[in-house]
Formats: sequence, structure tokens, C-alpha cells
Amino acid sequence: MALAKAATLDNTMGLPCRAERFIAATTHEEIRTALVMAADDAVPLNIVGGASNLLLAPHLPGITLQVACDDWWWEESDDQTVLVYAQAGLSWHALATACVERGWWGIENLALIPGHVGAAPIQNIGAYGVELADVLEAVHVMHCDDGREAVFTRDDCEFAYRDSIFKRALAGRVVVTQVVLRLSRSPSPRLGYGDLAQRVSVHPEVREIFDAVCAVRREKLPDPAVLGNAGSFFTNPVLEATQAERLLQEYPVMPHFQQPNGSVKLAAGWLIERCGFKGTRWGAFGVHERQALVLVHLGGGDRQELLALADHIRDTVYQTFGVALEREPRLMG
Ligand SMILES: Cc1cc2nc3c(=O)[nH]c(=O)nc-3n(C[C@H](O)[C@H](O)[C@H](O)COP(=O)(O)OP(=O)(O)OC[C@H]3O[C@@H](n4cnc5c(N)ncnc54)[C@H](O)[C@@H]3O)c2cc1C
Repeated sequence: MALAKAATLDNTMGLPCRAERFIAATTHEEIRTALVMAADDAVPLNIVGGASNLLLAPHLPGITLQVACDDWWWEESDDQTVLVYAQAGLSWHALATACVERGWWGIENLALIPGHVGAAPIQNIGAYGVELADVLEAVHVMHCDDGREAVFTRDDCEFAYRDSIFKRALAGRVVVTQVVLRLSRSPSPRLGYGDLAQRVSVHPEVREIFDAVCAVRREKLPDPAVLGNAGSFFTNPVLEATQAERLLQEYPVMPHFQQPNGSVKLAAGWLIERCGFKGTRWGAFGVHERQALVLVHLGGGDRQELLALADHIRDTVYQTFGVALEREPRLMG
């Protein structure tokens, strides 16, 4: 097993971070050993994937565990269905690419989401009208307190918009080791979101949709390798119908999406843009010029400065619209 030693922790936001004891575990035994180490030494256990949805402190005390098992395989479930087993350390986009190359439908709309497979169920990753929950069959976990392994069905995961049981009752209490997806050989295009339908042919191949999603994302979102960011900084707020109606009377052009339970989802990016933040710079950070939902790191900043900007945006949006924004990336350390 890789020794637990101090390491610089790369993260897409580009925040400086040093982990006191970092372990990249390549087997279940190594994961278990890391859990025992943290318990025996009574130190915090930080579980990280690709650190694309994290705002890291400059110093991470305790053990920082990254699952580095990255194999995947599949089995035919029936004529039309394939069960895909992917270990937690695999890159999500690599998995999506491999599935699309084989002509399997289900995660093509989730192309190019950074990070590892093991983090995908944590916030039920979603994009372009699809969520992980739509294709998820099971999540395999190891409990942090006793190393016990367990399998969660989709229902057990309590998925919701950017949410799951792993973010709430089980936050920090289990390590995801493997995810099982149910994908389809039959065409099942989901083109209802944005202008996706206009970007592909009438009866598109799965590859076409995957390519279109990648193209839209490259046009709209900054590449973390070039400009530090953590993707959407806030989740889209979901309002009671009455509050949404009041706002729509005042702002009839406000984008809004009716939800099955009667509530209404707003576009956080639009609210931020209307407050005049889009393309502005605040010290080492800024609001992206093409997507106001993305805060970018121009270099040399720290988390405190970033959170001060986020608070300022949140307060301004609240004062303007009476809508409370919630931060999407999680604090660690
Ligand atoms: C440019 C950009 C675009 C993005 N676009 C999207 C998007 O379209 N849709 C979307 O949903 N998200 C998006 N994100 C957010 C992010 O990519 C996803 O949330 C992703 O799943 C995070 O993966 P990660 O491996 O980097 O997780 P990390 O950031 O390392 O961790 C995120 C959380 O998961 C936990 N975790 C990680 N691995 C495990 C594990 N094995 N077991 C238990 N807990 C674990 C961590 O403790 C942490 O709480 C985007 C981010 C960026 C930078």
C-alpha cells in the first residue's frame, strides 16, 4: 500500500492544499487499513475523489483517503440491457466514453463531468436533463466504523436533486467502492434540455449526443486545467409555487422549470447574472464571463477570499429576489 505521507492535493478550484497523511488505496484491504489508521489514531478521515466538488482548506489534518481502484466490467442482463460495474477510482468521463463507444445508452448526457465514479452518487450528478439516479442499479460501500461492506439499491440511496443519503445521514460514514449502472442497447435519447435537440440529427446515435454534450460544455464551461473552478457554485433553488408566481409577475422572463410535485426550479445563474456579477473580478476570484453560476480562480487566492465572494453573491441575490442560494461544492478541512 502507498504509504500515508504528506502530499499536495490537486483540486479543480486550484486552492492550495496540503494533506497531512494521504493514502491512495488500490484494494479493499488498503481502504480498510486506512479506516483503521484513522480510528486508531483518532484523527479525521477525509474521503476524496478527483476534488472537483470540494473547497479545500490549506491544511487537511488526519488521513485523506482516495479510492484508487479503477477497473470496470459488464455483464448482459438481457437482450437490451447491460449491467456496468465500475470501481470508485475510475474517471467518470472515461467510463461514459467507454460505454458510448460500445453503443450503450444512459450516461451520454453526463459526459465530461469531472471527477471519479465513486463521487457520482454522493450528489447524484446530473446534467442535460439526466441524473445518475436514472441509471443507477446499486452502490457498493464500506462502512468507516467497522469496515463492513454493504450494497445500497437505488431506493436506499434516497436520491434527489444534487442530493442523496451519502450527503446527509451517511455523510463521511461510508466509502463508496463501486457503482453499478443499468444501461440500454436500445436508443433512448433524452434531448429535452436546452438546445441539445437542435445540435443532433432526428434519430441520433448515442455518440452524436455524447459529442453534442461535450461541445456545449466546452463552449459554456471553463476547463479547470486552464481556469480553476468547481463547476456550478450554487444549486438551482427550488421554490414553492406561490413564491415563484410572485417573482414571475415581477420578472416575466425569468427561466423557470415546473417540477412534478408543483414546486418550481429557478436558474441560479440567471439570478446572479441579473445582479450584475457575470464577468466581474473580485481579487483572485471572479464570476465566469459565459456562465454566472461558475466562480473562477484567477490565481493566488485562498478559500477564505472565495467564500467571502460567495457570501456577497448570496446576500445580493437574497436582497434582490428573496431567494436563498445554497453552495454546491463542499468544504473539507
Ligand atoms: C468544470 C466542472 C463541471 C462540473 N459539472 C457538473 C455537472 O454538470 N453536474 C454535476 O452534478 N456536477 C458537476 N461538477 C461537480 C463534480 O464534478 C461532481 O460533483 C463530481 O461527481 C465530483 O467528483 P470528484 O471525484 O471530484 O469528487 P470530490 O470533489 O473529490 O468529492 C465530492 C464529495 O464526494 C465525496 N466522495 C468522493 N469520493 C468518495 C468515495 N469513494 N466514497 C465516499 N465519498 C466520496 C467527498 O468526500 C466529497 O464530499 C462539475 C465540476 C467541475 C469542476
